Amino acid sequence: MQSFTNLSAKKRRFELERLRIEHSHLLCEEKRKDFAKRPSCPYCKQTHVYKVGVNKTGRKRFKCSACNKSYTIQTGTCFHWLHMRSKFERYMYSMMQEGHRSLKSMSLEFNISYVTAFDWRHKILSSLRVSPDEFRGFVELRNTILPYSRKGIGKSKPSKKVPGKPLSPVHLIIAADSEQQKSVHVASIGQLRGSDIESRLKNRIQTGSSIVSRFTKAEDVFDAISWFGKKNKLSISRFDEDSNPNDYDDKNAKHLEQELRTLVFQKTRGVSTKYLDHYGRWATIMRTQKLVRDYVFEALRYRGGWAGYTAREDIFARFVKNHSEVEYIQTSHRRWKTAVIYKRENT
Ligand SMILES: [Zn+2]
Repeated sequence: MQSFTNLSAKKRRFELERLRIEHSHLLCEEKRKDFAKRPSCPYCKQTHVYKVGVNKTGRKRFKCSACNKSYTIQTGTCFHWLHMRSKFERYMYSMMQEGHRSLKSMSLEFNISYVTAFDWRHKILSSLRVSPDEFRGFVELRNTILPYSRKGIGKSKPSKKVPGKPLSPVHLIIAADSEQQKSVHVASIGQLRGSDIESRLKNRIQTGSSIVSRFTKAEDVFDAISWFGKKNKLSISRFDEDSNPNDYDDKNAKHLEQELRTLVFQKTRGVSTKYLDHYGRWATIMRTQKLVRDYVFEALRYRGGWAGYTAREDIFARFVKNHSEVEYIQTSHRRWKTAVIYKRENT
């Protein structure tokens, strides 16, 4: 190759101009890639953000060019506003590997207060992404009933129990498909309607899949399931020990149901209906083949964790209003200043 200095002045100018253009293209490309790596703004979802140094703990801080707010990768996750991060992570591993242990024993082992142990448990459970995006193949919708519980409400507000009228049952739908995917959905308090299932599983079952449902005496439950199936244009078939035309194996859903019932009736002293969603996720994790560290990895990065945790009371209030026949009574008056900022998309 001819040396640069041997070139004529005109050719040198030409060559320099070519390099300058190539250089600016490469810079642009690098910048674009760098922007793509930066987390989008948790406040306004804008992706054009700047790096503005590091925070006290050495984590990169970003600043949004649209709303001017600054944040780190952990803003909005369950790590948000948390001081004992490594302890919290160990707590999370313990919950998912060993399953349920009493809050008292957890608080002793981790040297934290009882209230912190409770808060951490629910912070972690709100950050878990358990439910699959889409169920496929044969999708069993299994109904299970738990008692309505107002645990935590205190004795100061006794329930207005009408003599002779039984307490409303809480209907849960366990969904499980042929690909081992499964999740628990708290559907209604009181009678189960098709619209209750619709609100939890709308667009979550792939077109062309078939719903399978176990024969039960509760015809109203089957009516609700078939209403949902028809609405979503899915075929429905029923099975039991005597008649199982598709040779469907229900152990996936059955085991999850057992896990949940053990958690509610044996391992804990009852679960408040407000937190049943959380315990459903916990039971699912105990019955899954996915690695615990994958769940931990995802949960620590999930930027809706803080919002889900702080909005639990509001989410439950909305659920009671739309899917139940009981009266909503506020159990927690705790409010977080930052709760409204990080609105979770699905709540
Ligand atoms: Zn912003």
